[in-house]
This record gives sequence, structure tokens and C-alpha cells, in this order.
Amino acid sequence: MSSYLRLSGINKTYGDFVALDNVNLDVAKGEFVTFLGPSGSGKTTTLMIIAGFEQATRGSVEIEGVSLSGLDPQDRNIGIVFQNYALFPHKTAADNVYFPLQMRGVKRAEGLKKAQAMLELVGLEGFAHRYPKELSGGQQQRVALARALVFEPDLLLLDEPLGALDKNLREQMQIEIKRIQRKLGVTTIFVTHDQTEAMSMSDRIVVFSKGNIEQSGPPLDIYHRPTTRFVADFIGESNLIPGHIANAAEGVVESPVLGTCRYLTNGQPSVSNGDEVAVVIRPEHMKLSRNPIEGRSNARMTIDTIVNYGDNALVIGHAGEQPIRVRVLGADVVILHEGDECCFSWTDDAVFLVTS
Ligand code: ATP
Repeated sequence: MSSYLRLSGINKTYGDFVALDNVNLDVAKGEFVTFLGPSGSGKTTTLMIIAGFEQATRGSVEIEGVSLSGLDPQDRNIGIVFQNYALFPHKTAADNVYFPLQMRGVKRAEGLKKAQAMLELVGLEGFAHRYPKELSGGQQQRVALARALVFEPDLLLLDEPLGALDKNLREQMQIEIKRIQRKLGVTTIFVTHDQTEAMSMSDRIVVFSKGNIEQSGPPLDIYHRPTTRFVADFIGESNLIPGHIANAAEGVVESPVLGTCRYLTNGQPSVSNGDEVAVVIRPEHMKLSRNPIEGRSNARMTIDTIVNYGDNALVIGHAGEQPIRVRVLGADVVILHEGDECCFSWTDDAVFLVTS
């Protein structure tokens, strides 16, 4: 991948607290990258260092090989949208969008024409003359997006821009932002702690934990091939079951809970006989039944709780001390009851291993 934006060896400390510890990242031109991670993991700090609102203690930020260090935020040609819209209350939508062009010396008539075109792109053609207080939250966020894009930034940074919106509007805006980003081809970094948002919008997800990048990859890779326990646990739901490698060449792991469990050796971390590992099986890749199912690997569990979501249900139980979570279709759940003993089953291709 040719690198457009490059973060090299970024460290950020506040007193003796290390907020970022050697963050390295390459982003390709036009890529939509999402920073995902729990609260306090360093996502916003990284974004603020790229934007120039924070200074890294060590390390560099480059766009196309040119260092941004020493440049003030307004000189970086970066568009930013925050969760709180931060529109100027006494300017109309059109004037809000014109503002960054005005700062760049663009004449009013020409600037307002561009602002108008950008408002159209974000679906606000009839709203140019309205003041922020006359716009809904979603509309204000569209104005903020138009204002961040109107000057053709090298980079678009979005810090939880949909956090204040309700669920439906949020989903609608996710689709809109993605459509606009594709159309303009602008390199984008999006910060969220909402993993469905990250999964649905990104070309690549960068998972942060405790000031480090845990894993970076396309959404489905992150989901299906987490490389650490943290990522397996944080992204989606997982069963993380302890075991040790019985035969690394043939893909066999022994686990007190699962018994002899086979896995496909392709795409797994490198392991040797005797290594302690966690076997990961996603709840939606397991099935529940009264009796063992032929052609699948089976083990027994007791059902503790059934959480019904209508179209599907999460069945939470235990096998010995090990909690087991299985997602079943709504129709299948009627034969299951809390307190029942039953079989859970899986296939070899649903098994992957994490070692760290
Ligand atoms: P959230 O999802 O809650 O926004 P985040 O992943 O964006 O979290 P950051 O805001 O980057 O996390 O914060 C990373 C860590 O740095 C946190 O532990 C935070 O308390 C700490 N931190 C951030 N700014 C400062 C500051 N000015 N002084 C001291 N510590 C700070």
C-alpha cells in the first residue's frame, strides 16, 4: 500500500501518564479508516495530533512525505467534524460553509456558490439561508460536514460525529457520509466506539487499546481473524475457550471444555505443540440441539439465560466453569428452556486461535 498519511512512532505523555505509546500507521489516499476502541484508548488524542490541536511528545505526522510538525491547525488543510456541531450561531448555513473559504481569501460571491454546491451534496439544498437554531441536529451535522469539505481538504477527520443523533438518523447519516466520502474520494479518519458503525462504514478498522494499535485491517478480517484476545472480545461477541495445541501440523487443539477440537491451519497464528491458546468460536457459528448433531463437533452445556431479540436470541449457559454464548434464530429458541442441558456444536472452519 502506498502511504498518503503516515504516523511514525507517535508518543504522547501527560506528566507520567502515557496516553499514546509508539503509534505507527499508514493510510492510503482515499481510504476510509476508522479508529475504534474503548473510552480512553487514545483515539481522540491521535486525531488531535493529526489535526495539530495537540503536539506529540515524540514521533511525526506526514502527508505525502511532508511533515506537518510546526504547522498550526488552520494551516494543515484538514477538515474536521466533531460531535458537537460547533457551527457559528449567528451565521446562516451558507455562511457557515463559506467561512473556511473566506479564511482562504475566496471572494464572497464565488465562495457562496461553492458553499451552495456543497450544501446540495449533503442534501440541504433548500436550507442555505437558515440559521443553526432553525436546523435539526442531523441537519446541523450535515452543515458541519459541508464546512469541513468545501475547501477540498487533504484529509477529513470525523470525531464521533454521529454520537448525539438518535439511532435512525445515525444510520441514515452513516450511509450519507459514506456516499459523500466515496464521491469526493477524500481520505478520511473516523473515530467511534460503536463497532457496528465501524464495521459498516470503513475500508479499514484500526483497533486501539491502552494507547496502542492492537490490530488494523479490513472490517471482516478484524471480525473473523482477530489476532489478540482483546480484539476477539471487543469486536462482536466471542467464546474464548482455553486449550493447548495437541498437533500443530494437523490442526488439533485439546480443551477441557471442547474435548478434541480441530481447526483449519490456514490463516491461524503460528503455534507449536503444547502452546496454550484461546479457542475462539463466534456465538452465531454455534448451534444448539437436544442431541449431538452428526458431522459437527459437539459438547454439552447447561442453559442459564435466554435473551430474546425477536428475530434471534442469545442463549447464555455454561460448560463446567466456562461461559458459553450461542446465538440462535428466534424460531429455534422455543424448544430451549433455562435450566435445560443441551448440546452446542460447531464446525472446524468456525474455530480460530489467539495466542496473545
Ligand atoms: P473516548 O472514546 O472516551 O473519547 P479516546 O480513546 O478518544 O476515548 P483519548 O481522549 O484519546 O481517548 O484519551 C486517552 C487518554 O489520555 C485517556 O486516559 C485520557 O484521560 C488521557 N488524556 C487525554 N487528554 C488529557 C490531558 N489533557 N491531560 C491528561 N490526560 C489526558
